[in-house]
Amino acid sequence: MTDGTGLSGARMLLKRLRNVMARGGAAQLRLDQTVKLIAGEMVAEVCSIYLLRAGEVLELFATEGLKKEAVHKTRLRVGEGLVGDIASHARPLALADAQHHPQFAYRPETGEEVYQSLMGVPILRAGRVIGVLVIQNRTRRQYSEEEIETLETVAMVLAELVASGELVSQEELRPGDGIALLPLRLDGVTLCPGLARGIAVLHQPTLQLQNLVAEDPGREAERLNDALAEMQSSIDTLLSAGDIAGHGEHFDVLETYRLFAQDQGWRNRMMEAVQSGLTAEAAVQKVQNDTRARMREVTDAYLRERLADLDDLANRLLRHLLGAAVPSTRRLPEEAIVVARTMGPADLLDYDRTRLKGLVLEEGSQNAHVAIVARALDIPVLGRCQELMQKVGDGDPLVIDGDNATLFIRPSEDILQTFAESMRQRVMKREAYAAIRDLPAVTRDGIKVDLHINAGLLMDVPQLAATGAAGIGLYRTEIPFMISHDYPDVTRQTEIYRKVLDGAGDLPVIFRTLDIGSDKVLPYWNRDPEENPAMGWRAIRIALDRPAMLRQQLRAMMNAAAGRTLSIMFPMVTEVAELEACRRLLDLELQRQARRGVPLPGAVRVGAMVEVPALLWQLPELLQRVDFLSVGSNDLQQFLFAADRDNPAAAGRYDTLAPAMLRALAEVARVAGEAGKPFGLCGEMAGDPIAAMALLCLGYRALSMAPPRVLPMRAAIRSLDFNALLGYWQNVWHLDGPSLRSALLDYALDHKIPL
Ligand code: PEP
Ligand code: MG
Repeated sequence: MTDGTGLSGARMLLKRLRNVMARGGAAQLRLDQTVKLIAGEMVAEVCSIYLLRAGEVLELFATEGLKKEAVHKTRLRVGEGLVGDIASHARPLALADAQHHPQFAYRPETGEEVYQSLMGVPILRAGRVIGVLVIQNRTRRQYSEEEIETLETVAMVLAELVASGELVSQEELRPGDGIALLPLRLDGVTLCPGLARGIAVLHQPTLQLQNLVAEDPGREAERLNDALAEMQSSIDTLLSAGDIAGHGEHFDVLETYRLFAQDQGWRNRMMEAVQSGLTAEAAVQKVQNDTRARMREVTDAYLRERLADLDDLANRLLRHLLGAAVPSTRRLPEEAIVVARTMGPADLLDYDRTRLKGLVLEEGSQNAHVAIVARALDIPVLGRCQELMQKVGDGDPLVIDGDNATLFIRPSEDILQTFAESMRQRVMKREAYAAIRDLPAVTRDGIKVDLHINAGLLMDVPQLAATGAAGIGLYRTEIPFMISHDYPDVTRQTEIYRKVLDGAGDLPVIFRTLDIGSDKVLPYWNRDPEENPAMGWRAIRIALDRPAMLRQQLRAMMNAAAGRTLSIMFPMVTEVAELEACRRLLDLELQRQARRGVPLPGAVRVGAMVEVPALLWQLPELLQRVDFLSVGSNDLQQFLFAADRDNPAAAGRYDTLAPAMLRALAEVARVAGEAGKPFGLCGEMAGDPIAAMALLCLGYRALSMAPPRVLPMRAAIRSLDFNALLGYWQNVWHLDGPSLRSALLDYALDHKIPL
């Protein structure tokens, strides 16, 4: 920079840039003047702007320093060369020796072979890359962090010029698939089940920023502070409205969100951007761009959620700064389905709940904060619909089929008819299920099966009553840890476990100790990345290395149980010695409580999860030390078949009804049965009626499943004649073949078992 690097340099550059923009004239001319200006101010021999054209191609639109004849001729695919790399990763790149970088792609028409160093940043708008801004130097130059920041700030201003549509048409800027008016279907992941039909309402149509470069940074800092204060009080009002049904984690989520709005780091970053010469709204958008770029890189679901919350907050802040309407004051169609790339929890609450019928997200996960809040509102949610924002337009008719994790865009008449029929059947099924809710899960010939629910959120607990389940067969204690802002102390944990036990009343609850690690990462706990986290430092491996953590959890469970039965289950037990070590810690904790005169649980039952195949050969020894066993079929299957359960390419490859899995399950049933110890199964398999038929034949009488599966399972069990099924089973179960599924399916269809 002419006056050396630093904020004042950035500010001066922005000022000059504003003059160029204000001069008017053709956009191309302003672009040409801009590259000249940037090259001069940043002491670079080259400054070039590449813009994204249809077909994911980056075209050189203006340059200072490269050969002029290359303008509008040089084109790179996204991902090709260094410029393409910056676009595909949406992140800056600064290289002192660019020519030896493996991604370097030489284009003779540009004459760039003489430039050694390169720094480039993406030009971002609404979370999408629309171009790349690059500077190059003849000598080897180490670009500083501040210089990268400056170039990013300039790129923001350029983004608005590009968005005007004069350089690249608006249609080209909005990538489409060319079949915008035809019906489409997108597959996603069901985050909240259900069916919905409605009109697409695109969340957050991009707000247009008029002024990016500040006249008076002091005034902008004041505007930013005022807007932050306004936003804070409006969030307080929104969250204290208290009109979401029930009590549970969504309050934790919203409380954390409220704390996020006060996050000093976030506020400081925006303030720094104001100091560099941006207006308050441009500063918010710049920090938002950074957040979005990080979101692309982060794979950890929890961290992505936090970043999504920040994105949400930035949108709110922009609305306050621009005096724009909040979504709730937008007129929603009578039946609206909100469509968003990602969304924070509070934004969902802005919408008129009487008209909001569903939510579809391009991103999102089960523990997405918005999904947790949506579950509290009981609206269907689909997540991870790829290219959603490119394929859905405002006003498109949509159908969400949560049962099949599918979104229909502009559905054809026959889809609509099918939808109407599904809705009708759903109502009928609901009525039929309601009628059997209080009837026992017993086969026609009198075999009783205990159907339990898997839970993790407090809001799951009322499902006990709604489904008539026999208890909570698996309470995943890590879930509250994952949605909390910081590590829950003993008091907080006690409170959660007590609420679970109170909610369950007389019904049994099995608490599983923390199963963190693998994909379940706690953000407040820094850990080294692992090559194979599913097989790494997780669950009781962590607990035994950090015994204080486990003891605190056990203490909280004892406090909560006080006088009641406490059932504890340890996850990922691999050898008997581990279970013994866990039991020792449990004993120490019981003694400690007794010494202190704290009321003890009425009884303590200890169980182990059978998830690691090694346990299959230690069952008799293990059974001497536990009161019960529960098979975690999700992990058992993943380890038995060496198939990552989270990798769709591997996860669907082997069936739970494959001979190897069935023999493993039969072995657990046989040995536990001989030892006279209760055993059950609590993986996804338990909720599948076909798999449940196999489990019944193998001797399983306790199944724990996702709450929505309980009533359909009860209906299936009540329609079975167990002895007839067993006769069939004995004929087929030793047959060759990859799976018994089709044989059992045939049986179910022939015998009209509701599936
Ligand atoms: C399992 O592995 O089957 C199980 C129930 O535990 P989780 O899905 O929480 O790993
Ligand atoms: Mg498991």
